[in-house]
Amino acid sequence: MAVRQVLRMGHPTLRTPAAPYPVDQIATRNFRTLVQDMRDTLHDCSGIGLAAPQIDVPFQVAVIEIEAGRTRYGELQGSPFQVYVNPVITVLDGQDPAGYWEGCLSIPGIRGYVTRPQHIRVDYLDENGKARSIDASGFLATVFQHEFDHLEGRLFIDRIDDTKLLAFDAEFEAFHLAR
Ligand code: ZN
Repeated sequence: MAVRQVLRMGHPTLRTPAAPYPVDQIATRNFRTLVQDMRDTLHDCSGIGLAAPQIDVPFQVAVIEIEAGRTRYGELQGSPFQVYVNPVITVLDGQDPAGYWEGCLSIPGIRGYVTRPQHIRVDYLDENGKARSIDASGFLATVFQHEFDHLEGRLFIDRIDDTKLLAFDAEFEAFHLAR
């Protein structure tokens, strides 16, 4: 196991679109090491999602793990640890977007309010290379979009409509948490 360094905003890898992970390399030792490192790093940071470019691996791989009922985002639908390889998002209903205060391991100490579509489908390969599809709504839909943005070189701050809704953690908790 290995906890890897998480790149911070300003590192060029975070701004470079990631390449599709070679399908014939899924389930190899290298792939399993990558996944284990991503899991270890996610847990070390107490995060809910991590994309491979955040640890300087320029491929389309992300991991997400959400404990049900957790944290400041309110009552949450849980999502067990899962690996998403070469994910593709389809917006099922873009008519009713909603916002959440997002944070990012690559932008420590800062939160921002981002509005995104709330009903999506994700087609992806799992850690065994099996094609899967999942529909997601609400906060989970936001998490998918945040993580998969990383695979295209995008960060949540790119999607902030109102820069007044950008705050450091302490100010977020003091002035915006009840929003
Ligand atoms: Zn992020």
